[in-house]
Amino acid sequence: MRLVVLGPPGAGKGTQAVKLAEQFACADVATGDIFRANVAEGTELGRAAQEYMDRGDLVPDEVVIAMVMERLTSDDCDLGFVLDGFPRTVNQAEALDRRLAGLGTPLEAALSFDVTEEELLRRLAGRAAAQHRADTAEQTIRHRREGFGIKTRPLTDYYARRGLLINVDAIGPIEVVTKRILDELEGNRRQG
Ligand code: AMP
Repeated sequence: MRLVVLGPPGAGKGTQAVKLAEQFACADVATGDIFRANVAEGTELGRAAQEYMDRGDLVPDEVVIAMVMERLTSDDCDLGFVLDGFPRTVNQAEALDRRLAGLGTPLEAALSFDVTEEELLRRLAGRAAAQHRADTAEQTIRHRREGFGIKTRPLTDYYARRGLLINVDAIGPIEVVTKRILDELEGNRRQG
């Protein structure tokens, strides 16, 4: 299975990406986690990403694209992947499409997580308190949400035009949301 998950910070993409990767025995590739690990280890990639992350800005496309393309060559991506946090710009989506077209293994679906504004703010406040993440401080949250609106939202149109977009009602217990997604993917398969 080759999937991307889209949605604003706090929509539950990460949680569902883990479940879906388990279900399909494929890799869970979370770009934010990869960057955080690199920052913690003090690698060159981490140093390149840190200042952007601390501000709540997107890391430049060329850095992210190179990292993801490299990651997708790992053995654990042989059965596919769930990409969480990538793509975040149309430029990134195009780079992914080009790579997958070259391999003859196109993306199968883009899941877009729908959550109300009120629920998002409630979840993000909880996460900030629990994780002490520098990028979950209040003004950074706002900044990231604005960035999402400008750069990332056009991705839903991008995938809708390609017939890959699946909107997911992401409010509800975790298992219920997972079941919704699996049902949608199954329905898609039957139609396809
Ligand atoms: P996340 O955990 O997905 O919210 O990512 C945390 C931070 O990592 C983001 O706020 C960005 O600074 C950076 N990041 C993760 N994925 C990407 C991406 N696809 N493009 C640009 N920056 C990214």
